[in-house]
Amino acid sequence: MNKRLIGYGRQTIVQEDIERVVQVLQSERLTQGSVVPKFEKELCAKVGATYGTAVNSGTSALHIACLALGLTRNDMLWTSPISFVASANCAQYCGASVDFVDIDPESGLMDVEQLRSKLIESKKQNNLPKILIPVHLGGTSCNMEDIFSLSKEFGFSIIEDASHALGGSYKNYPVGSCKWSDITTFSFHPVKTITTCEGGMAVTNNAKIANLLSLYREHGITKSSDEFLHKPAGPWHYEQHILGYNFRLSDVNAALGLSQLTHLDTFLKRRRALALNYKKLLGDLPISFLIESDDCESAHHLAIILLDSVCAHFQKEIFTDMINAGIGVQLHYQPIHLNPYYLKLGFRAGDWPFSEEYAKAALTLPLYPSLSEADQTHIVNTLSQILGRYYGG
Ligand SMILES: *Cc1c(COP(=O)(O)O)cnc(C)c1O
Repeated sequence: MNKRLIGYGRQTIVQEDIERVVQVLQSERLTQGSVVPKFEKELCAKVGATYGTAVNSGTSALHIACLALGLTRNDMLWTSPISFVASANCAQYCGASVDFVDIDPESGLMDVEQLRSKLIESKKQNNLPKILIPVHLGGTSCNMEDIFSLSKEFGFSIIEDASHALGGSYKNYPVGSCKWSDITTFSFHPVKTITTCEGGMAVTNNAKIANLLSLYREHGITKSSDEFLHKPAGPWHYEQHILGYNFRLSDVNAALGLSQLTHLDTFLKRRRALALNYKKLLGDLPISFLIESDDCESAHHLAIILLDSVCAHFQKEIFTDMINAGIGVQLHYQPIHLNPYYLKLGFRAGDWPFSEEYAKAALTLPLYPSLSEADQTHIVNTLSQILGRYYGG
């Protein structure tokens, strides 16, 4: 049908986005100007958070979120094995240890009951996590209300990894409202809901945390006179108080983000329509969908399907056949703990069986706003043909 490889996700850039980026390129300030604060303000307004700190990636957002919550050596962070490695790596950057909570195989999300039993066990061993990172896989929020009440009972902080979930909601609150968490992080990588090329943001409702987030973003330097520990020697005075990084987003990138944000609702509507259409088109195939709770309106970042037990046996072949047919399927995700780096830390195959089983059956189909219904029909017909090869054969 067409020769281009249909990727699993891609950006949608319109002329207006390009013009707003060019305006900043022609202006005085390419970085540290007024566009980043404006982007932070607008995104916060969209998700119902008070403070936003824009950074150069979603990974940096997770990193400074951990730092701002005081994660350090001898601390423990828990997350889901079914996520991008950054959800766990952020703990390693702080010298802390990582552990995982298995998923609910029906939703792909962190399982609250397994979280509860693991917390009870860990309390006995005096080994409770300092931070928990629930991951809103595919754009569907985790069960934040129950996770939040466990955080009060067992005394840990919560960072929502909402890299997939910008524009989604939970119990009628937008993801990012931080009603049930300390910090929520977003990514603006081109495959995500909106893009700044590379970029991310950490949002919070806590002024102290917000202040730390921006300190860690910029070298640990403060320029506000009310925070100075020394008497200013002159008007040039600034002070470094902690060891921070340069994780700044540029104003050029933020201009793209600001413009993209105005398309968010259109993007979401389109993604929702395409997700619904997939459900219709895929109805007769031997696959199932991840279950979305009625509490959630998904941001539909990923179209994940689960192959039935016959097809799952041929996951690798089906994947390869789809790629060879020009359809860029993906696996979200190989369980984090099975990466060589994490195996070296002592994790083992078999540690989180639901995650491992899920990863043997999951397949992500293309989903992005500029995908057409004709593309979807082509994708589903191709998949149907390929699955037929492995049935009864
Ligand atoms: C994309 C992503 C990240 C990292 O974001 P980057 O902007 O690529 O650094 C973290 N967690 C999840 C779940 C992601 O999908």
